[in-house]
Parts: sequence; structure tokens; C-alpha cells
Amino acid sequence: MPTHYDLNCEIVPQKGKLSVNGEVHVPISKAKFLFVLNRGLRWKGVSQRIGEESHPVSLHRTDELEVPRFYNGDLWAVETKTEPENNKLQRVIQFEYTGQIHPPRKDSELPQMGYIKNNFVELSCYSAWYPVPLSMETYMSYNVSLNGPADWTWDANGVHIGTETSDKTSIWKWKQDRKVNDLTLVGLPHRNAHIDPSSVFWGTKEMVGSQRVFEDHISKLRVMLEDWLGPRVTKAPLRFVLTPRQKGGAYSRAGMVVVGGGYPTEFSLRHQVLQAMSHEVCHDWFCKASPMTYDNWVDEALAEFCSIHVVNDYVNEDFLTSQASKIRDRLEKAGELPSIRSLVREKDESYAAFYYRGFLLLNETSETVGASKFREAIGEFAMICTQSETITSDMFLDHIQKKLGKKPRTRMEEWLEYSGKGVPK
Ligand SMILES: [Zn+2]
Repeated sequence: MPTHYDLNCEIVPQKGKLSVNGEVHVPISKAKFLFVLNRGLRWKGVSQRIGEESHPVSLHRTDELEVPRFYNGDLWAVETKTEPENNKLQRVIQFEYTGQIHPPRKDSELPQMGYIKNNFVELSCYSAWYPVPLSMETYMSYNVSLNGPADWTWDANGVHIGTETSDKTSIWKWKQDRKVNDLTLVGLPHRNAHIDPSSVFWGTKEMVGSQRVFEDHISKLRVMLEDWLGPRVTKAPLRFVLTPRQKGGAYSRAGMVVVGGGYPTEFSLRHQVLQAMSHEVCHDWFCKASPMTYDNWVDEALAEFCSIHVVNDYVNEDFLTSQASKIRDRLEKAGELPSIRSLVREKDESYAAFYYRGFLLLNETSETVGASKFREAIGEFAMICTQSETITSDMFLDHIQKKLGKKPRTRMEEWLEYSGKGVPK
């Protein structure tokens, strides 16, 4: 059975304070649940039940696995000694903690992706504000209830099911029945908020203002992507959440794209920005490969490929050609790189390998087999992605072989094994 969270949270932005009590339902086969929690959060209690019965449980910090650098927190283990009697049941781990979200350690040089400030709140797996399962292959459904100041507005990567406001506080509720890879929550004071259901942007009035030049373009690009890749997996409206942080870039969570600092609005960068935005929209389809393994190249390279191609169609200029040559230069400049197969997301070289080399690999295949044939194969793979729990590099290669033959697959494997500068001969 899948992982499910029920969380009751309270956020006091003026004090930077978070309190959570809730439970996570995990498969009974797991005697040990490993997860990451932010260093600034303090436990108040952990217990466990199976069915109606309470079972003893031990909670301790552990170093048995390395926490990927992009998670800002310590690794914890909840262990149980009780043997399950009925394999149809789930373990329910109940927990309570409170405290503040600490930024990453200074020497880590990582951007602060999560924070609770008096003018904005951004929380996702990066700041480990909830017990984040160490294996990100764990997809979760959830119910979240958030108690916050009455004059704040919030959003999450789920379906908003209601808000009750009293004098001083509001309780916001969301539900996510699909399996998603994170629990993302953002908020800001109502008086500063841009609220317009017809807009794809969400954030402060100030930040959204300049970004509205993209509104029309991105809606059209999304329709073009749906024509190519099929219906998006989520019915939730697409929205770009603009947060005040300047570093760390964008991430996409079930229809919600969270962007630090917004996009540059200079006219000369217009096509680049539309491509960057489309890349995030593409993650509505390509979001199921594990970032803990090299399989992640599939999601990133496909998001690059589809976004560059769709923008090329849209602007009707030589965007594809110029972008491909830029990417070739950037890859060359990145110097000697390990093979895609030997990398994982958290390694510094993975960006150049997954995005640049990965894109060039797909582009070469497209040129070899013919653009329209390749597009069709990618469109079909997008549908496989929406219907599967997880995606691997092998699933992609199998699909390529089935649709386009053994040769393109063999060539792709050469690229994936290639280490050195640039691309294979
Ligand atoms: Zn991406």
C-alpha cells in the first residue's frame, strides 16, 4: 500500500515557528522507516499503531545512509520490533514536533530553499519540514490541515478543499489523492497577494506584476504540450509560484511550479524564459524517475528536449538550432564529465551531463530516425509516464527499441556509457 500523510500544522510566520502533529502510513513490510527532518525541529513524541493496537517503537538519529545534499536535515530511523501479523495492514507512525526551519549549514554553499518568514513561507522536501522518506521513490498521498494567521493566503500541491477563518486564525485544508513526490506549501500575507484565478502566477503583487508578460505565451505553450504529450496527469490548474528567494531556481510539484525570484523580463531573453517555463511544465509528465539514481537523466533530458522543441514550434524561428549549438558549447566548457550512467542528481557534474548531454543525445536520435517519428515515440512515452508509478532509464530504452528499433537504443547506450569531454564520436 502507498505512503500516506495526515498532517495538522500550525505556522506562526512572525515567530518563524512550525508545529506539526500527524501520522504517516507506511507499508507493514518496512520494519525501519528512514527519513530526514530539518535540524531546527525538535521531537515531542513518536508512537506507532498497527490496526487499533499501539506497538513500541524506537526513534534515533542515524548515519547509516548518506543524506543527499539537497535535503537540509538529519537522518532519523523509526524502528519497530513487532512482527506484523497481518500483511494487509499498514504501520501508522504518529509524530509530533515543533521548532524553526534552519537554513543549510554555511559551508554547504546550498541555497536556502525553505523558510518561514514574516512576509513569505516556502516549504518543501528540500527543507525537510515533514518527515521526508529518504528514498524519494516513495510517492505519497496526503491530507494537510494548516492553522495560520487569519490575514494570510496559502497554496499547496494538492486540491484545496476549504478554509475556515475565525478572528485570529484561518484553517486551510488540502487533499492529494494521487501519488506525488512532495508536500509543498507556500504562503504570504493577503494584502500583498496577487489573487486572480485566471492567472498562472501566484505570489506577491510586486513580483507577479512584471511576470504577466509571459501569461498568454505559457498558456498557449501548455496547450501545445498537451497536444503532443497527452493530458497532464493532474487536473489541478497549472501555476507558477513566485517566491522571494533569489537562489535555487525552480522545481515542479504536481501542477505547481515554484520559482525563486521570478523570470527575467528583458525582451532579448523572452524565448529562453519561455523554454525554462516550459521545461517545468514538462515535469507534469516527466517526474517519476528517482533523483537518487542516474535514471533522473530521463526526466531532465526529456523536459529539456520537449521544451526546446515546443518553443521552436511556437516562435517559428531557429530556436532549436541556436539552442542546440549553445548547449554544445556549454557542455564543451564543462570539460571532462563522468558518464550519465555513473552519476546521480546530487553530484555537481550531473547538471551538464543530464541536461546538456542528455538533450544532445535525444536530439541526435531525433535527427537520425526523423523528427516526427521521434516526437510520436516521445508522446507515447509521456503517456507511459503518467500511468506508471516510477520510471527508469531502461523503461525508456525499451520503449525506444520497441518503437524505433534496436539501432537507436544501442546508440543511446553508447551515449549513456560515454565519459569524457562533450559527446561521443
Ligand atoms: Zn527539470
